Amino acid sequence: MNPGPAEKAAPRRNRILESLRRPLVLAARNDFAALPRMSGLGARILNLMLPLERLPLGRTDKDRLARLKAAMTDFPTSDIEEDRRRVLTALAVLDRLPGDLEFERSEVEKKSTPSEPTISETPAAPESREFPDRRPLWMSVQYVKGVGPRAAELLAARNIVTVEDLLYFLPRRYEDLRRVGRIADLVVGEFGQATGEIVAMSDPAARFGRKPFEVRVQDESGQAGLLWFHYGAQSIPKRFKVGDRVRFGGKVGLFRNQRQIAHPDIEPAAEPDGEDFEGNEVDSRKIRPVYPDIPGIPKKRMAAIVQNAVERYASLLEDPLPAAIRKNADLPELAQALRFLHLPDEDANTDRLNDFSTQAQQRLAFDELFFVQLALARKRHDTQTEPGYAHRRLNTLARRFTRRFPHKLTDAQVRVVREIVADLENEKPMNRLLQGDVGSGKTAVAILTALMVIENGCQVALMAPTEILAEQHYRTIRELCDFEGLRVELLTSDIARTDKLAIYEGLAAGTIDWVIGTHALIQKGVEFKKLGYAIVDEQHRFGVRQRVMLAKKGRRPDALVMTATPIPRSLSLVLYGDLDVSVLDELPKGRRPVKTDVLWMSEWKRAEALLLDELRQGRQAYVITPLVAESETLDLADAESEHERLQTVLDGHTVGLLHGRMTAVDKERVMRAFLEGVYDVLVSTTVVEVGVDVPNATVMIILHAERFGLSQLHQLRGRVGRDRFGGRCLLLCEKVGEDARERLSIMEETTDGFRIAEKDLEIRGPGDFLGTRQVGEPLLVHANLIRDAKLLETARKLALQCLSEDPELQRQENEPLLSLLNDKWRERLSLLGIG
Ligand code: ADP
Ligand code: MG
Repeated sequence: MNPGPAEKAAPRRNRILESLRRPLVLAARNDFAALPRMSGLGARILNLMLPLERLPLGRTDKDRLARLKAAMTDFPTSDIEEDRRRVLTALAVLDRLPGDLEFERSEVEKKSTPSEPTISETPAAPESREFPDRRPLWMSVQYVKGVGPRAAELLAARNIVTVEDLLYFLPRRYEDLRRVGRIADLVVGEFGQATGEIVAMSDPAARFGRKPFEVRVQDESGQAGLLWFHYGAQSIPKRFKVGDRVRFGGKVGLFRNQRQIAHPDIEPAAEPDGEDFEGNEVDSRKIRPVYPDIPGIPKKRMAAIVQNAVERYASLLEDPLPAAIRKNADLPELAQALRFLHLPDEDANTDRLNDFSTQAQQRLAFDELFFVQLALARKRHDTQTEPGYAHRRLNTLARRFTRRFPHKLTDAQVRVVREIVADLENEKPMNRLLQGDVGSGKTAVAILTALMVIENGCQVALMAPTEILAEQHYRTIRELCDFEGLRVELLTSDIARTDKLAIYEGLAAGTIDWVIGTHALIQKGVEFKKLGYAIVDEQHRFGVRQRVMLAKKGRRPDALVMTATPIPRSLSLVLYGDLDVSVLDELPKGRRPVKTDVLWMSEWKRAEALLLDELRQGRQAYVITPLVAESETLDLADAESEHERLQTVLDGHTVGLLHGRMTAVDKERVMRAFLEGVYDVLVSTTVVEVGVDVPNATVMIILHAERFGLSQLHQLRGRVGRDRFGGRCLLLCEKVGEDARERLSIMEETTDGFRIAEKDLEIRGPGDFLGTRQVGEPLLVHANLIRDAKLLETARKLALQCLSEDPELQRQENEPLLSLLNDKWRERLSLLGIG
């Protein structure tokens, strides 16, 4: 049966209320943290309201809409306090609007208010069964049983504001209360349960508070200690005595070779016949979800709160995935998945739950991956329809450059230049990632292709993450492209104001052909006459947002992103969708890989011996530290102290100091001195990571290597061995546990940047990898790009399929997708410059 217009109208309106409310909730969240960034909020709400205003409403509802409209007109104001008040007003008004907005219709009719004919043709729509009123999901968590004002505040600090947020707050792990083993089988570091007899107990009369209260338990396999450091202990001597049999559980620790559990769960053990001793409470659930800690809310209470919310509200959740897609991916419904994760079935598999491999968990991961893919595909569809520049291959400047360039291009460079040139010839804007290990010669590729764009009358911008690097590029490019009539300029924040203004003018007038710079390039005031090519170097050092901002300085310029950090496929799919990738997989001839060893920090003498040996042969060395200056809180090597120390240790050799707190001029001076051989050793922080090429430097010693990301270490060591001498890298790590050294060992095994990057991603997660961490809300909460690589492929396939069948997402079954993309996912996706 086809729904008539009336039945269709109700869910649509209901959804409008949803869409109105979501951005407002977002704006109010976290003490209005996002509000300053939501400049489009007012316009958006007004737009969404339009269909509501056309409804034949009673006076009260009309008034409410008018108040909402007033609050969102000329929003934002210039006053942040006023903005906050307005958001709250708008939310309060929305709360009072009835779900279907048909509330006072009869009253309207009674008064026979004249209404437009088109409207009277739309009869009242009854609230549809299929689309329940979902507004309880957006109520404050305070309405959930067990949450008072104080708890609501604590939850809000964790970004849990609405009931819906609470439903998505998933357990961190699951404890299996069905398994009770022997004491000797308790695994240190994991949750475990055992039964045993109490053989000793601290003196309950002793003053509590200094030493932990301890109970010793024993079974035929061994002994364990149960410890209480605070109040929980006081009830223990009342409930138990030596000789009692108890069942206990918790996270197992080790102390002096004995297993121990702090603040355990403890119950009288069930008698062998199965009856509970004294009929005392035993946890009735067989699997216990453990939620992430929220300071101030005890664990058990937290679990109870979430479970109340699930039981009451989970059924209201709308499943955004069309049933066909969900079935195709073989995943459960959203509400069902969430219910399972909060209240697992009695026979669920805790190992799989703890591995995040249940269907329910995969469902949540799938949604995230699917939405990102959907948004990317839509974005790509957009860019494909609007043409950019089509450049012609003139080759005059390129030929002049090749004559001047002191090397023969590698085969890989030739291939990649061809790939890019083909894109530049095409009017479709290029969106290409150039990956090439440190030293593979990406700069020459950038120059050759930039010259083609310039010859065609467009401007080029090259953005680098640091001043040193921008300056180096500038010098290289000036030197190699010193052609008549070609104007290249450097724009960094360090440039004097008057010079800056002159550059702004030149860019706007089109007299500057190529500008090279740092973040200064994306500041307000920088405008191009005709930006045709935006190049970003070492993109991993930028937020994704900055890349997009540079491209936005032009009208669909071709874009090239260069990186020495190979980006694993799973990540580049999430980041760029179908972004084209070129790889420089060949180093110029005569380069040898850097031989790398991992040592303990305590083995400094060995490092020193190697260092002195190389210095005696006239080579130079880098010593890298994690900190600039001595820290009161961190016991780590810092550049300043290390510089001082090495000056005495390496008597007779000169030692330079470089770090990010120095002015650009000083950095430049030191770097230049090192290049010219004034210093034998350069002590530095990671500012050399993307620094200057010093062919004579052959050794790099990295202190506290465990503090660095693997890809970063790989980048760093790429600074040495740039000449025929080959290079050596020593990674000194602190004994902070075996795994630090284990993690670093991959640096000894391989110089394959891809493998290192994969490992890095696995360890640090995509947020860190992308440099989007500071943004707070991570893009992927439930999905993990390494673990869910296969799921990602499925999500991508289904997203593309969905769009090929319904490019505008106009079909009714796709409506929830569209509304989620526009509301809930909008903020998150904008981090990637999509959406
Ligand atoms: P990266 O890819 O790390 O940015 P660069 O573009 O800075 O590498 O190049 C590193 C060094 O290699 C530079 O000194 C550059 O002049 C040199 N180089 C570039 N291409 C070649 C080549 N085909 N043969 C030899 N050396 C080259
Ligand atoms: Mg480079």
